[in-house]
Amino acid sequence: MIPPTVPQALNSGPDVQLNLNVRGLTPSATVAINEHCDRLLAEGKTVFKMGLGQSPFPVPEPVVEELRKHAGEKQYLPVRGLPELRRAVAEHHRGAFGFEVSEQNILVGPGSKELMFLLQLVYYGDIVIPTPSWVSYAPQAQIIGRHIGWIQTSRDDGWRLLPDRLDALCRLDPGRPRIVVLNYPCNPTGATYDQAELEELAAVARQYRLILLSDEIYGKLRHQGEHRSIVPLYPEGTIFSGGLSKWCGAGGWRLGVFVFPENLRWLQDAMEAVASETFTSTSAPIQYAAVRAFQGGPEIERYLDASRRILGALGSRLADKLATAGARIVQPKGAFYLFPDFGGFSEKLQSRGITTSTQLTAKLLADTGVAVLPGRVFGRHETELTVRISYVNFDGRRALEAALDGPEAPPVDDDFLAEYCGETLEAVDRICNWLDT
Ligand code: GLU
Repeated sequence: MIPPTVPQALNSGPDVQLNLNVRGLTPSATVAINEHCDRLLAEGKTVFKMGLGQSPFPVPEPVVEELRKHAGEKQYLPVRGLPELRRAVAEHHRGAFGFEVSEQNILVGPGSKELMFLLQLVYYGDIVIPTPSWVSYAPQAQIIGRHIGWIQTSRDDGWRLLPDRLDALCRLDPGRPRIVVLNYPCNPTGATYDQAELEELAAVARQYRLILLSDEIYGKLRHQGEHRSIVPLYPEGTIFSGGLSKWCGAGGWRLGVFVFPENLRWLQDAMEAVASETFTSTSAPIQYAAVRAFQGGPEIERYLDASRRILGALGSRLADKLATAGARIVQPKGAFYLFPDFGGFSEKLQSRGITTSTQLTAKLLADTGVAVLPGRVFGRHETELTVRISYVNFDGRRALEAALDGPEAPPVDDDFLAEYCGETLEAVDRICNWLDT
């Protein structure tokens, strides 16, 4: 029998029923491009997957072994994280990043992305985001309803956040509560900071009593090593964000960590309360395995050293190719991203009907099979012809084994790259040739 009135909840559409903040929201660009590529591959198309920023390297074997051993761990763990893991993270930070931290000040979550969301949710303030920046900081703010303060960076400044720009924004309303996102090595540009630059940024942060969210998830992938954390320079206001996804090749394991200063314990407590009402705790087997990752040791150091040598050499080779072809580009210093600007080709591209970065990446994929992301999703103006290339579409296991081979590590030179990273070189050649035609 048909009911006399149709329930409103089923009858009206998203325009009425959805929370205003999520109306029109579509899946995250990084995730969407990955799934789109998988669909194209399943249809038998040739695709060079350079959209999602996923480590090409396998999880180090000792860490995988620990996961096997703990597959039977089935209990809910403390919201804050497994005590052994928090101890290992604290110890790790002392050694790797040079700062003291108590295990009490560590919060483990199912990926740092989720922890960032919780932070924005519990903290009632603006979020300040340099652009270009990772695709999800701003949508998270939009979902929660936070005001975003954008700060432009430029290629001429190496895509770094300049202290003067941060100061200029804060000076407009000095007392306003703000979280400032600092991400280095940077996704999408590969830019990083030296000690003096970090000191200047820390001084501005201290002057305005900002909360710094220092996203250092790519810290261990600084190509030359010796990543410096900003935490010791502004310990009272910096929340360190990291995890296993990038340096440990374990993105799909979903494990992130935040390290808080003692005086922001109230913020940590609030995040824990929300975590307890949402995800409860991070997967138990993954946390046990992560203890091994953070304990480190010679095998993991060799893995990291080889990862950095491959990524450093490949990034620099690809940047050279793009520059020779006429792109404007800054050499990456860390991570596995390139952020070329094809503005020099604007007339040529316009004649092909391309005036935006979104059109550019769509046409590039259709014509060459190379999947990259448009600068727009990193906060750049739609008409700026920038793209992010994740140079990760090679067999990382094979390349790593070769780079680790023998008593002396072999050089990662052009021959090595041709042998082990051929697909990635080919993809960039395809972009260059496409621009040239
Ligand atoms: N951070 C990676 C990227 O920018 C992937 C993870 C994600 O966005 O969730 O592509």
